[in-house]
Amino acid sequence: MKITGIRTFLMQVGSPDLETRQTVPVPKSAQPFGGTRNWLFLKIDTDEGITGIGECSGWPRVVETAIKDLAPLLIGEDPAHIEKLWQKMAIAMMGHGMLGTVGGGAVTGIDMALWDIKGKVLGVPVWNLLGGKLRDRIPIYSHANTVEKALSLKNRGIKALKCGGVSDPVRKVAMLRDAVGDEMDIAIDLHGPPWMTPADACRLVRKLEPYELLWVEDPIAPDNVEGYRRIRDAAHIPLAAGERTATIFGERQLIEEELVDVIQPDTGRAGGITQMKKIAAMAEAHHIQVAPHSGSLGPVAEYAALHLLASIPNALILERIDDDWEGRKHTIVPHPVQEGGSLAVPNGPGLGCDIDEEFVARFPSDGNVSIPVQESGGAYAPGTYGERLYVQTRLSRRHYFNA
Ligand SMILES: [Mg+2]
Repeated sequence: MKITGIRTFLMQVGSPDLETRQTVPVPKSAQPFGGTRNWLFLKIDTDEGITGIGECSGWPRVVETAIKDLAPLLIGEDPAHIEKLWQKMAIAMMGHGMLGTVGGGAVTGIDMALWDIKGKVLGVPVWNLLGGKLRDRIPIYSHANTVEKALSLKNRGIKALKCGGVSDPVRKVAMLRDAVGDEMDIAIDLHGPPWMTPADACRLVRKLEPYELLWVEDPIAPDNVEGYRRIRDAAHIPLAAGERTATIFGERQLIEEELVDVIQPDTGRAGGITQMKKIAAMAEAHHIQVAPHSGSLGPVAEYAALHLLASIPNALILERIDDDWEGRKHTIVPHPVQEGGSLAVPNGPGLGCDIDEEFVARFPSDGNVSIPVQESGGAYAPGTYGERLYVQTRLSRRHYFNA
C-alpha cells in the first residue's frame, strides 16, 4: 500500500469562551456564532482506496500550510510504518526550529490518520493496536462558570466540571462547590496568566485547598516551569499542565520533575497517538495521570483521545464540551453518544469516525487569533490593558486577593 495524497479541511467554528476573548478582527463567517476557533481535519488517501482521517490543532491555518509542505515526504510511502514516517517528518522540520505546536499539530493530524489507516487495513479499532482496552467508557468533564450551568451538567449526570479564569477564582470555586455538593469533582483552569507570579500563585492555590479540587490547571505561565516547583512545594493540591507543549520533549520536564499530578497533552498537537502513548508511559512511571486537553478541539481528535484513554492505565478523564457549538454534531459521523458522565469507546475499524465534508465546507476559515478583552476580570492591572504585554506589570494585588 502506498500513500497517494493528503487533503485538508479547514473550518471556522464558534467559540466556547466568549466572555474572555475577542476576535481580531471578528471573522465574518464566525459572526453568527461570535467565535474565532478553527478546526483542521485531514485525510490521507492510499492506492488501495483506504483513507485515514486526522485532526490538527496548534494554529490550524498555519498548520494547514505545514501539511502541504510535508505531503511530498509522505506520498509513495507505505502508511504501515508510522514511527518511521513520524521520524521522517520531525527530521524534515528540524531546520525550522523545534517542533513546537505548529509542527506538532501537522505531525499529529498525519500520525492520527496513519493509525486510522492501520486499523482499517486490519479491521480493528485503534485501541486494539495500542495493546487493547482496559475500559469500555471514558469519563468526561465539561465547563461551568455559573451555578446554573453547573447544575445543568449535574442534572445530565456529568460527574466533573471545570471552571476557569482569573477573576475571583476562590469565590467562584466556593460558589460552585456549594451548588453541586460533594458528588461532583471540580477543577479550575487559570489559563497560565503571565502576570501571576509564583508567589501570588502559591497564595491563591493554598486558598483553594479546602475545596478538594480535582486539580488546579496552569496557575502560572507555562513557560515558567520552575515556578511550578514553588507552587508544588507550597500547597497540597493536585496541579495540572501540559496543554501548550508538544511531544515527549515538551512534556518531559513536567513529568520527570513531578511538577504536576495530571499531564494534559493536547490530542491535536502533542505529536499524535504515537507521542501521546509515549507521554502516557512516561507519566505512568511517575504516578502521574493523563487528562488530554480537548476543550477547543474538534470531534476527530476526541475520537483519538477515546482510543488512547481506553488503552492506558493512567487515564483520568477527558475534557469535553458537547454544547459549545451547534455545528459540532453536524461535523462528525457518527456523533459520539454521551450518556451521563461518560463516552463509549468506539469499536469500529480505525478511529471509527468520518467528517461531513459538505458541512465543513460551509464554514471557510477567515481568522484565528484573539486577545483577552479589557474587561476580562483580573487579567490586567487597571490602566495597563493598552500596553498589551505578555509578562505584565501588576498593581492592586490587595484588591485582587480580597476581591
Ligand atoms: Mg487549560
